[in-house]
Amino acid sequence: MKRMIYSTGMAAMLAVVMIGCQKSSSDKADASALSADERNLIQSAGFNGNWAEKTSDGDYLVEGDILLTKAQLDELAVTAPAHELIIAGEEHYRTTNVVSTPGTSQRTITVRLGSGFPSYYSTGLDQALARYNALNLRIRFQRVTSGGNIVITGRNLGTSGGGCILGQASGFPTASGNPSSGFTLSTSSCATSYLNTANKVDEVIAHEIGHCIGFRHTDYMNRSSCGQNVNEGTAGVGAVWIPGTPTTVTGGYNSWMMACTNSNPAFSSADGTALNYVY
Ligand SMILES: [Zn+2]
Repeated sequence: MKRMIYSTGMAAMLAVVMIGCQKSSSDKADASALSADERNLIQSAGFNGNWAEKTSDGDYLVEGDILLTKAQLDELAVTAPAHELIIAGEEHYRTTNVVSTPGTSQRTITVRLGSGFPSYYSTGLDQALARYNALNLRIRFQRVTSGGNIVITGRNLGTSGGGCILGQASGFPTASGNPSSGFTLSTSSCATSYLNTANKVDEVIAHEIGHCIGFRHTDYMNRSSCGQNVNEGTAGVGAVWIPGTPTTVTGGYNSWMMACTNSNPAFSSADGTALNYVY
C-alpha cells in the first residue's frame, strides 16, 4: 500500500502515505481517462496532462493528490503565464497564484477543523499553525470554530492504485488571491492507521495547508520521496521555482512539501526560505 505523505521509509516499504492532498497512490494516473481537450486544459493550467485523472465526481486529480474542478482549471488556464512555465528538477515550487498580502501588514487566514476527528487532530492542527506562525510570515494562521478560510473535513478517501490516500486538497489559491477553501483528511482505516499521533496529523495538515497557500510538491518531477522515478514527460509543467532553495534533492530530502511523508513535521531551513520568500 503506498501512502504518499512522505514516508521516511523511503522506498523501503513501498508504502508511501500520500500526504494530505490526496496523493493518491496512483502515481501514474490513467491518462486514457482524459479526452484530448481535457488534457490540453490541464496542461494550459500548468500541470502535466499526462499525469492526471478524472474522478468519479467529474473533477480532476493532478499530481496524485490535488483535486481541481473544471472551473478551477479554467481559471488557472487563464492566469498561468507561459513565461513562468519552466522545466526543472526537484526544487521548491509554488503555483502562479499565491495568497495576496496587503502591504506590510500580516494577513490572517482562519482555519477550522470540522467535526468528528479524534482530539489529537486538534492538537496536531494547533502544532502546524504554530509552526507556520513561528516563521513570522506575512500571513498568519488563526483557528476558528465557525466559518474559516480553510476548512478541514473528514471523509473516507479510500485507496487508489493500491495506495492509501491520506488527504486531498481542494486546489490552490484563487486568481483573486485567496487560499484554497480547504482539504479533506481521509477517515479510511489505512489513513487513520498512519495518522495515529498529533505529530503525524501536524505533518499532513501542514502539507495540505502548503497546497492551499500555493506550494507544490518539492519533488513533483519524480516523486523521489516515494521511492519512485515517475517520468512526467516533456510537457511544460507550471511550477515557479523559489529562489534560494536547492536545485536538486534526493528522496531523503526533508521538506514539508515532499510527495511522500517522512513522519517528520519540522520545517527544514529551505522550507523556511521558501515560505519567507513567498510570504
Ligand atoms: Zn501534496
